[in-house]
Amino acid sequence: MMAVYTVVGLGSSGFSAVKFLASQGHTVAVTDGGFPALADKLPQGVETYFGGIDTDILLKSDKIVISPGIDPAIMPIARAMEHGVSVVSDVQVFIEALRQKDEQNNTHTPIIAITGSNAKSTVTTLVGEMAKTAGKIVGVGGNIGTPALDLLDIDGMELVVLELSSFQLEMMTELSADVATILNLSADHLDRHGDMAGYLAQKLRIFEQAKNAVVWLDDKELARICIAHLPKDCQMISTSGEIGEGFVADFCLKGESDETGEQIWLCHQGEKLLSSKQLLIKGKHNLLNALSALALASAVGLPMSAMLDTLQKFKGLPHRCEFVADIGGRAYFNDSKGTNIGATISAIDGLGVVYGERSLALILGGQAKGQDFRQLAPFADKFAGRIYLIGQDAQMIAQALMDVVDFGERIVHAQVLDKAVSLASQSDVKAVLLSPACASLDQFDNYGERGDKFVQLVQALVCD
Ligand code: ADP
Repeated sequence: MMAVYTVVGLGSSGFSAVKFLASQGHTVAVTDGGFPALADKLPQGVETYFGGIDTDILLKSDKIVISPGIDPAIMPIARAMEHGVSVVSDVQVFIEALRQKDEQNNTHTPIIAITGSNAKSTVTTLVGEMAKTAGKIVGVGGNIGTPALDLLDIDGMELVVLELSSFQLEMMTELSADVATILNLSADHLDRHGDMAGYLAQKLRIFEQAKNAVVWLDDKELARICIAHLPKDCQMISTSGEIGEGFVADFCLKGESDETGEQIWLCHQGEKLLSSKQLLIKGKHNLLNALSALALASAVGLPMSAMLDTLQKFKGLPHRCEFVADIGGRAYFNDSKGTNIGATISAIDGLGVVYGERSLALILGGQAKGQDFRQLAPFADKFAGRIYLIGQDAQMIAQALMDVVDFGERIVHAQVLDKAVSLASQSDVKAVLLSPACASLDQFDNYGERGDKFVQLVQALVCD
């Protein structure tokens, strides 16, 4: 049935929604608080309302497709909802279209759905690569790279791997994934979700009508809540990154000592699959990411050989604990994608184990997004010899860290990245880590630009 749709927000996912809905013959309008660049590329016949979100057009719509960057609590959207207009995410439109296509072709395209506070992109990319190695025509997208609706253009798509943010899940019902997971949970986006309970409630929607679920057992509270939310016939596949000797989860790690030193094995049902030495991605958090990818891919029947082959070739993604250079006896790592405390803790922990106590210069700060930085203090205390603070919330972060540990002169207010890199390059440390635990938007366009700038500054040190 043809309907009147309004798309709110004209970023890449909003644009893909407009294109798709117009191609289906629906009447489509788009509204945006600013004057978006993509406006020039809109299909003919789409009505536009820019420079403010237009309440009238929302009230006249049958359905609203809201972009993940827009808070559904804002007045115009809240009013439309009160008037009974349904508000969905682009991913919901995608799922409905995919299932309709499946029905017409008498097929079933499995969906792997991935959310979490951290590691989503890494695990989504890994699973997508595993599928490609297995010879599948796979669509990888959602919150990463390609907007979900653009995946419908892939001819003969046999499998979908979706990265989903809490914002996308908030506006969805009945995802019905073949396998779904919440990889982990740490404070993030609390400025929008209010508190941890609100944030988790959105993420739990990923399990609605799921056939299989991957549950990480090491965060006991998160595992308990996930298990309590699994649908009745949903099969659970468990993972654990604790390095033990026995068989504690379907996919887990096993430690073993031999003449070459300590070996860590990735295992399935107690059987050894690969040694950590065979992986290019480093750090304990990446072993866990490998286990999550194995668990997800096995749930849709990808062959083990393709999964293991991919794991041995995967180099990791840029801006995620990425090694930049070794200069003047210091190693430099770009973890600009460390935009929350959970990610930064895993980066400090992962590198701290390699370089030793108080061996790191940590560059931290930006927009704090309502996080409580006291949680970071014990990790920073153990592994950071120096902390260089940058960005808008530096004072607040310093105060929170000092509430827990007297860092004294180990905390330095550098204000900007250039100065932080310059000071860190003269400090008595073994490794310099940019892992800000904050959003970048106060000083940069995005985390990518922040990471690129860091890499440039580090490369310039070679020339000095
Ligand atoms: P997301 O897409 O969820 O933001 P990414 O794969 O882009 O996840 O990684 C984001 C950040 O999280 C990076 O700084 C990375 O080093 C860190 N990270 C990666 N894996 C984990 C993990 N298992 N637990 C915690 N942090 C992680």
